[in-house]
Amino acid sequence: MTELEEKIARLIEAAGPMSVSDYMALCLFDPEHGYYTAREPFGRGGDFITAPEVSQMFGELVAVWLYAAWQACGAPEDAIIAEIGPGRGTLMKDMLRTLARLDGGFAARHIAMVEASPRLAAVQKEALSGAPAPGTHGQPQWYGRVEDLPERPLFIVGNELFDALPIHQYVKSAAGWRERVVGVGEEGALAFMAGAGVPDPAMLPPGADAAPESAVFEAAPAREALMETVAGRLAVQGGAGLFIDYGYEGPALGDTLQAVRRHAYDDALAHPGEADLTAHVDFAALARIARGEGLAARLMPQGAFLLGLGLLGRAGRLGADRSAEEQERIRGEVERLAGPEAMGTLFKVLAVMPRGVAVPPFDGGG
Ligand code: SAH
Repeated sequence: MTELEEKIARLIEAAGPMSVSDYMALCLFDPEHGYYTAREPFGRGGDFITAPEVSQMFGELVAVWLYAAWQACGAPEDAIIAEIGPGRGTLMKDMLRTLARLDGGFAARHIAMVEASPRLAAVQKEALSGAPAPGTHGQPQWYGRVEDLPERPLFIVGNELFDALPIHQYVKSAAGWRERVVGVGEEGALAFMAGAGVPDPAMLPPGADAAPESAVFEAAPAREALMETVAGRLAVQGGAGLFIDYGYEGPALGDTLQAVRRHAYDDALAHPGEADLTAHVDFAALARIARGEGLAARLMPQGAFLLGLGLLGRAGRLGADRSAEEQERIRGEVERLAGPEAMGTLFKVLAVMPRGVAVPPFDGGG
């Protein structure tokens, strides 16, 4: 039993089964034992590898996009360049190098890191010490929440952020749809159960009535609230956002809660606090929220996005004059980032920006 599992079992004994959302929040952010608050989860030695950790080319191309978005929005002088949920800080580190090359002045503007975990913020400070690139003078600043950012035009990126926000699950029981909860089963281990809560019928996706018993659907109010905050700021202060995650265009039935520990899938209840817990992102819901704030929202697969920004050309330049082994490694990174069997199609890129602004490789329109 992990220490967090004992704590969760005690909480359940005292107060009854907890929602999947509360369980996920404890697993990821418990101040003592949470996955993001207490562990070093990323990178080759960690539990999973994200796109910026796969290759420097990811951050470089995202920086090219952010720079193009800044120009398309009229190149506001007082813009903030921000990342939310920066993990080990690798993406911003790669971005700053490219931004300084594109335009030293842009990289010297206000750099903001929005990170909920104080421990990861410290890791990021270390990664960015000495950044931005030589010859510029801005120093990155850290913020705990988007709400704390200065009220200025905002160019913000988030990779694998929304999948880490707690979700609620609902399960079809013999008595109908009920909130899915985590309780303690007969053998004393944590177990999923149908709780007493009944979802608002308006929340149910199409086909919910005919769904078989034990079908699951998910709702992500915390994720949607964060999108509303970001989009609300972009609508008022100007700017653009780019969010990359694995996900689908809902609404849809399905249990996407997933645990990964030491590079392998794990039971979501088996190692609380020691496994990464995520859920697939419903991009249609996030796009609807951005549009509701008066913004344009556009979606494309990660592979098409990176190829559209010149991934192959960048790989070619990076590999020029390198050994055959190095070139093979770079080819492998391209395949992982953009290949349909790897991150290319399951991962998607959502761009939100003012209506009427077009930033390639997204076309114009809503
Ligand atoms: N972007 C990184 C890390 C992804 S993991 C990468 O691609 O490697 C998710 C990150 O989001 C972690 O840094 C976690 O601490 C942070 N996070 C989760 N919820 C957050 C919130 N509400 N606000 C800011 N950061 C958050």
